[in-house]
Amino acid sequence: MVPISQVLEKSWIMKQRFFVLACMLAASSCFAPSARAWGCKGHQTVALIAEKHVTKEARQLVDKLLGENPIEPKLKRGCGNTTPDFMVDASTWPDDVRNERHNGPWHYIDIPRGKHKGSIEEYCGADGCVTRAIEEQRSILKDKSADPVKRAEAIRYLIHFVGDMHQPLHAINNGDNGGNCVPVKYLHHEPLLNLLHSEREDYSPNLHQVWDTEIVERDMEVSNPHRYADELDEKFRAESESWEAAGIHVENWAWEVHERAETEVYEAFSVKMPIEPDVKPKGCSDNNHIGKRQFEKHLTVDETYQSRAAKTAGKSLAEAGVRLAMILNDAAKSNP
Ligand SMILES: [Zn+2]
Repeated sequence: MVPISQVLEKSWIMKQRFFVLACMLAASSCFAPSARAWGCKGHQTVALIAEKHVTKEARQLVDKLLGENPIEPKLKRGCGNTTPDFMVDASTWPDDVRNERHNGPWHYIDIPRGKHKGSIEEYCGADGCVTRAIEEQRSILKDKSADPVKRAEAIRYLIHFVGDMHQPLHAINNGDNGGNCVPVKYLHHEPLLNLLHSEREDYSPNLHQVWDTEIVERDMEVSNPHRYADELDEKFRAESESWEAAGIHVENWAWEVHERAETEVYEAFSVKMPIEPDVKPKGCSDNNHIGKRQFEKHLTVDETYQSRAAKTAGKSLAEAGVRLAMILNDAAKSNP
């Protein structure tokens, strides 16, 4: 038997190698606000939690549209394509097409840190944002006369985007590309500069990456999305009733996630992280060398931060699953 610590270590090294390789193959992708948001397992968990809360009508509508309008078989799937479960398979598809469709901004909304309420629309740029994308895809799905291919895509987008918008760093920006320009030491892994383009001051691990993947996957340990979804659904059963009772209010959800990012991501560090100017840097050398400035703070995501963050991430995944089911149930109501 190989000890779990060795397995985790090996997977970390593989990820680091992959990061360098990915940068070599597609330099710009290293600066996208998110590579994959919750990561494969996180998105699959959201889909599996939603499956527990969808009505029979919603599941039938989803399976019919997704089954009759399958994903292009030649598309390279970042999370594999071996699952027969349409919703789980759909949950990661938008990340596989985000570059060819140039719709990266649909995966997040840059609400500047320090803002607390008001219309969210002003933070949604010309290229869109996650809250607008969710509303647009809901309309397509509800429109029975719309092209079935587009309606199937709308389901795939919704499954993914409701997950994305519940990743706290997908609803906040502190002049740091949603935490992508905040190098962190993750447990004992020091942040490393991307030496292929050191002028960009881009490090790995960084805060966004850690929240996307590492925190959740460490919490899952040897579990898998099916078991993790069971555990979270059980744990948040009481809360899920109040989430359902509150109804579908996508903007409110984004504000909630934004506030959660403030307290559970930035303020959870023992080192104070001041509010940065409201800018969207193209790379981590912008905003007066945000990457290097944050690197010099020597931020650490240690076991204490990890266990607090894992609680937040688990709740966020459960909430996303329940709210996704609400959206699908609502769409099925208008599609008997
Ligand atoms: Zn995404």
